[in-house]
Amino acid sequence: MNMNMSMALKGVHVYLGIETDTGLPTNSEELYNLEVFDGVIKRIEKSHSNACGIWIAPGLLDVQVNGGGGAHFTDNPSIDSIKNIIHTHQKLGTTNLYPTMLSCSDQLMLNAVDSLLECFRTGNDCGILGLHLEGPFFAPTRHGAHHTSYIRAYDQQLMNQIVDRIGGAFSLMVTLAPELITSDQIECLKTNKIILFGGHTEANTAEMQIALKSGLDGVTHLHNAMPPMTGRNPGPIGVALDSKKLYATIIADGFHVDPIHLRIAATMLGQRLLLISDAMAPCGTNENKFDLDGRTVTHHDGRLLDERGVLCGTVVPLFTMVRRMHELGEVTFEHALAMASRNVAKMLGIQDRFGTIASDRIADMIIGNIENELVGVISNGKWIRCEKNIEEMLKKNDLR
Ligand SMILES: [Zn+2]
Repeated sequence: MNMNMSMALKGVHVYLGIETDTGLPTNSEELYNLEVFDGVIKRIEKSHSNACGIWIAPGLLDVQVNGGGGAHFTDNPSIDSIKNIIHTHQKLGTTNLYPTMLSCSDQLMLNAVDSLLECFRTGNDCGILGLHLEGPFFAPTRHGAHHTSYIRAYDQQLMNQIVDRIGGAFSLMVTLAPELITSDQIECLKTNKIILFGGHTEANTAEMQIALKSGLDGVTHLHNAMPPMTGRNPGPIGVALDSKKLYATIIADGFHVDPIHLRIAATMLGQRLLLISDAMAPCGTNENKFDLDGRTVTHHDGRLLDERGVLCGTVVPLFTMVRRMHELGEVTFEHALAMASRNVAKMLGIQDRFGTIASDRIADMIIGNIENELVGVISNGKWIRCEKNIEEMLKKNDLR
C-alpha cells in the first residue's frame, strides 16, 4: 500500500472538476479511458468503450476536521493523534485536510504547531494542508460548542508567536470574530498569508463590510454561531451572500442548517460555497459518546449533542456531506463534489495540485459506483482504499 499505484480504466465516468463559463461544473455524461502510472495520471481521453459502472472524482478537501477515529485533535494534538485522524478521513474519501483546533490554551496551540512541523518534515504529501485555528478570538455570546473559559479578545502577540513558529512551513487558517480586530490587524494577518474566515461572531453589516474590504476571505459554517439576517441588518450571512468575493463554508448534514438555506447558499454563492465536515472524534468509529473539555457529548440519531442540547460538530465525513448537499441542496452530484474539492482548492490557491482530474498530476482521487457509494480512494499517488470489485476490474485492464 505504500508503493505508488498504477491502474488503467476504460469507460469510466470522470467528474473532471473543470470550470465552465457559468462557473458551475459540467454535468457531462461522457466516458473516459484513464491511465495512472507510478502515482501520476498519464493519460485521460474520451472513450468509446461501454460504461464500466464506476466514476472518478478529485480527492475531497476538508478545511475543518476536529477529530476522527476516536482522536480529538484539540485534546491531544500529538503526531499519533493527527495520523489517526488523517488515516480515518482518507479511508472515508477526504484525501487532504486541515486538522482544526477548537478554542484552547496558548500552549496547546503551540504544541499543535510543533506536531504539524514534524509531520511536514518528511515532505508535503502527508495528507495535511495546514492548521485551522477555530478560535479562541470569538464573540463570547456566540461560543457555540467551544468552552467559554478560553474565549478571549484578540491577541496580536500570540498570533505573531504562532506565525513565527510555523515559519512558512505550512498554511494557517484562522476563524475569528471580525468585530474584534481592526483593519490594520486584518491586513497584517493577510500579509502573513493567513487564510482568514469570520465566525462565532456578532458582527453587524458595517463591521463585516470593513473586514471584507481589509481582506477577509470567508465566513465559517454559514448560519451557525452568527446573528440571523434581518431586513435592516443583513450581517455576516447577508454580506457573504451578497459579496462577489467572500467564500463560505457550510455544514450540510441536514441538522446544522435547514435545507432551504443549503439551496439559497448554493444558488447565491456558486463556486464560493465550500462543504466542511466539522467532524469530531467519533467520526469513523462506533463510539456513541466522547468528552469535549469535560462535557459529555452524545450521539443522537446522527447528531452530536452536549448536555445542554447544543450541536457539537458532526460524526459525518465530508463524502456524506456531498451526498446530502446533492439530495437536500438539490444541486447536481458533480456540483456537490466541486464544493468539497475544486472550490476548496481554488479558495486555498492550490488548484495546480488538487480539485481537478488532469494528466501529469499526482493521482489524488476517489472512486464511486452507480449508487454513489465510495469504493476506492487514492491519495498522493497511493492506494488508501480499494474494494474487491475495483481490484477485479483493474486486473482485467493490464497496463503494461
Ligand atoms: Zn464553530
